[in-house]
Amino acid sequence: MAATDYYKALGVPEAASADAIKKAYRKLARKYHPDANPGDPVAEERFKEISAAYQVLSDPEKRRQYDQMRRFGVGGMGGFRPGQPGGQSGGWQRIDLEDFEGLGGFGGLGDMFASIFGGGAARTRGPAATRRRTGPDRHITVGVSFTVAARGGQISVTLPLEEECSNCKGSGAEPGTPAEPCPQCSGTGQISLVQGGFSVQRPCPRCYGRGVLIKSPCRECGGDGSVARRRRIKVRIPAGIEDGEKIRLRGKGEPGVSGGPPGDLYLTIQIKPDRFFRRDGLDIHCTVPIRVVQAMLGTRIRVRTVHGKRVELAVPAGTQGGTRFKLKGQGIKKGDKTGDQYVEIAITVPEELTDEERAMVEELGERSSFKE
Ligand SMILES: [Zn+2]
Ligand SMILES: [Zn+2]
Repeated sequence: MAATDYYKALGVPEAASADAIKKAYRKLARKYHPDANPGDPVAEERFKEISAAYQVLSDPEKRRQYDQMRRFGVGGMGGFRPGQPGGQSGGWQRIDLEDFEGLGGFGGLGDMFASIFGGGAARTRGPAATRRRTGPDRHITVGVSFTVAARGGQISVTLPLEEECSNCKGSGAEPGTPAEPCPQCSGTGQISLVQGGFSVQRPCPRCYGRGVLIKSPCRECGGDGSVARRRRIKVRIPAGIEDGEKIRLRGKGEPGVSGGPPGDLYLTIQIKPDRFFRRDGLDIHCTVPIRVVQAMLGTRIRVRTVHGKRVELAVPAGTQGGTRFKLKGQGIKKGDKTGDQYVEIAITVPEELTDEERAMVEELGERSSFKE
């Protein structure tokens, strides 16, 4: 990847105000967010780029350093090579190595993105931010109908969620009321107990490990700082998804700690079997029964497809049971590939005959065509 100019990435001039940068970022982030563009690697790359740009340009100190680098003629963070930890020193290369971890290999933006969004190994960032933690990921299994999995579509998924209380922003205190450091634990949230000669750390019983005493608990959450909700979200299922495949939804996991970003949500797809369709890669298979007379005389049948429309199929006279016909292009469309639908003919015979019919069939059975 070529070095990226962060100002160009956000489409703002170098003199842009913090507000203008925020606005530009929000607009672009909405447009290129992976949830809005599932399976689109170009949009994802662009999203990483603007996220990385915003991380730097929204922080006055990092922006100042970055501006300095640009003036050195380094065309963006891509030219930034911090070297091995503890290796190079001097100049701006010493600055903020913690915050820029991952930029060295470039890889850079991707690694930085991972550390921001919790996908990579770097779950916590620099010392100043050690208490900010990415929320845990969630894993759930969702059933998807055969046809939605085949042709793509939208499903709605219900998540039982512990969400940060929006009234108190997770603090547990009613907004505008004071919270004092807990006198029992001196604000650490932990107390030491001596048990059987050992000193053990326990969450402080007075402040429940929070470190502060809440005078007026939040009326929305009762002081928990979180509320249980069931949230329905819409998820786009790409056409041709496989059984057991996972979809990752960034930021839809558990809330972060101390203002850290939320974790991710992983949906494992379980495709429900269909009574009519079977699947083999991008091809669809089905079996259609016709009556014995239709098989002898020829017929036209209308066959269901995963795309919703029925397609007419001409079955010629004399078709044998087990014969397969191909409906070209009626399989799964994935990328630039399209599968076909195969229709296998099954022939049904009457289970019972009237006396008259039996006599007619017996007579037919004596004719030459039926003696071979
Ligand atoms: Zn609350
Ligand atoms: Zn306490």
